[in-house]
Amino acid sequence: MSDSNEAAKPTVVVVGGGYGGFTVAKALDETSDVVLVEPKDAFMHNIAALRALVDPSWLPRIFLPYAGLLTNGRVVRDRAVVVDPHRVLTASGEEISADYVVLATGSRYPFPAKTDLVDTHHAQEQVRRAHQALTQADRVLLVGAGPVGIELAGEIRHVWPEKSIVLLDVADEILGGPFKPELKAELRRQLLETRVELILGSPLRQSPSTEPGELETFAVTTEAGTEVVADIWFRCYGVVPNGDYLGDALEPARRSDGFIEVGPTLQVAGQTTVFAIGDVSTADAKMAGFAGRQAATVADNINALAQGRSDLTHYESMGVAIAVPIGPTGGAGQFPGQDEIVGRETIAEVKGRDLMVDRFSELFGLAASVAP
Ligand SMILES: Cc1cc2nc3c(=O)[nH]c(=O)nc-3n(C[C@H](O)[C@H](O)[C@H](O)COP(=O)(O)OP(=O)(O)OC[C@H]3O[C@@H](n4cnc5c(N)ncnc54)[C@H](O)[C@@H]3O)c2cc1C
Repeated sequence: MSDSNEAAKPTVVVVGGGYGGFTVAKALDETSDVVLVEPKDAFMHNIAALRALVDPSWLPRIFLPYAGLLTNGRVVRDRAVVVDPHRVLTASGEEISADYVVLATGSRYPFPAKTDLVDTHHAQEQVRRAHQALTQADRVLLVGAGPVGIELAGEIRHVWPEKSIVLLDVADEILGGPFKPELKAELRRQLLETRVELILGSPLRQSPSTEPGELETFAVTTEAGTEVVADIWFRCYGVVPNGDYLGDALEPARRSDGFIEVGPTLQVAGQTTVFAIGDVSTADAKMAGFAGRQAATVADNINALAQGRSDLTHYESMGVAIAVPIGPTGGAGQFPGQDEIVGRETIAEVKGRDLMVDRFSELFGLAASVAP
């Protein structure tokens, strides 16, 4: 907490070091005393996680240690268990006082897109084990035909032209969300072109008998009666917000679906010094790019409040945006303000080929990595 010295910088505790949290921590590193609370030893660039599953030589490029992130601030390797407007309590019992708090704890998502493991070594082993199992599987079932299921199908097909890949969803179209029908049609066309089988419009009667990522043959049947036999499966749905640490003063801002309510300035509902950004907040769609833009707004607003100003910036959504690679050279997308959908060449250029790994490496003070 600041002392009475007027020149003292405010203390900003950022809870969670994902895309939103690391960006706001870095943006405030000069003007504030930043404390970033994060249980993992490295940022996981999960946008490239599916590539690392099919090609583990990418693993060193997607785990970026926090050591090189901040020049002045500190990173506390711990989990926040109670957060109040001016205090963060961690699992190991450390109490950190704060002038401002930024909640950036994001969301959980099934492996391999994200992981709960907090040690890079264990997280990489988890990917290597799944890679080994996937290598030996002839038939793959992906449950969930949203962006992750589509992308994972493309990654697997790129490395293993012969495997059978089934992409299954309860909805009767792929991708879901507020996206253009032409985009869904184009992704569907490319999936079918690469011999990914689509089974849509009916849920599974029961979950597979094996754990996701485990090599063992199983059979499942949809409610509509279609049987699928596969040797491995992955769950490709289920964003769950991480917001179970809110103390009594903040808990009313957590909606029944678990997301934390924010206003246009990204202040948590009912609060002036607590902000929430990224997947855990209600600010926008759940995208890393949006979390980064929200981080910039929050950094501006904390600087303004610290200078005694009340003219805070409002976060404005860019609108619907998505880039869905199908392997390094395929895919399609939709960009804000463009009527036409975006084709495979542009998607390969902006995402599919290098999955933005160099951009993120540099932000963590690492040299651009060498392409595998
Ligand atoms: C395969 C895949 C591809 C994607 N591709 C894109 C893309 O191309 N473009 C795009 O914009 N988005 C993409 N996304 C979505 C993007 O990954 C998420 O929107 C993004 O991760 C959200 O960032 P965040 O900072 O809110 O949270 P997260 O990235 O989820 O980070 C939250 C952090 O908080 C930490 N944390 C959790 N609980 C606590 C606690 N109690 N105390 C302290 N720390 C805690 C976690 O360990 C984690 O490090 C993709 C997602 C997936 C799964």
